Amino acid sequence: MERQVGIATGVERLAELIRQSRSTVVLTGAGVSVPSGIPDFRTPETGLWANVDPMEVAHIDVFERDPARFWSYYRPRFQSLGDKRPNAAHEALAELERRELIEGVITQNIDRLHGAAGSREVVEVHGSIETSSCRRCDTAYGLEQMDPLFDADGVALCAACGGPVKPDVVLFGEMLPEAAMRRAQELAEAAELLICVGSSLAVYPVASLPAVTLERGGRLAIVTKGPTPYDGDAAIKLEGEVDAELGALAAALR
Ligand code: ZN
Repeated sequence: MERQVGIATGVERLAELIRQSRSTVVLTGAGVSVPSGIPDFRTPETGLWANVDPMEVAHIDVFERDPARFWSYYRPRFQSLGDKRPNAAHEALAELERRELIEGVITQNIDRLHGAAGSREVVEVHGSIETSSCRRCDTAYGLEQMDPLFDADGVALCAACGGPVKPDVVLFGEMLPEAAMRRAQELAEAAELLICVGSSLAVYPVASLPAVTLERGGRLAIVTKGPTPYDGDAAIKLEGEVDAELGALAAALR
């Protein structure tokens, strides 16, 4: 592995790997949205995440048994994520897709920012806050349609049937969406180069995708601060800020 701290040389090398690859796929985690002001909940410090363990509250059991408690946590989260904007990292990936240098993006993020930046092939393996759906009649509501659905207890109820409305995100304790996981697997299998951005690659099953690419003879590039289990297998690792690294990458490929 080449370990690169300086942006210029590392980015040049990654640009070269992309030029050599006939199929490049990008896998993103929470780190790609940090420059947009969305903290990685695994390193809780301030704000929303300070006093709550999301793995306990953003859980399907809490949604089902105590929806007021679930929504007291999740509704502010909707509001805080809803007005966030894509950063230079999201924009760089959208540009690379437009220029047919990457096939698409697999993301663990639910914040919709890849789509907002203009990426089209986005596989959201943990769902997204874009919509919420009634669990009884399947009526879907856009993020901006949610407010009127909340009752006096702060629970979102379907305008059509009164059933419980759930964010279309994968809560703790829930299965990952099958179609999205299948697509992610296909992309990882076909990738000659998988670029992992802003993810510690620690959370199963997304953490298993780099192994899929490696087993098929593909290469791995990592743009992430801090160690990952795949550092030793990566053709290159960049450890600068993701928005600076990807912004420079897009520029190097112009
Ligand atoms: Zn309904």
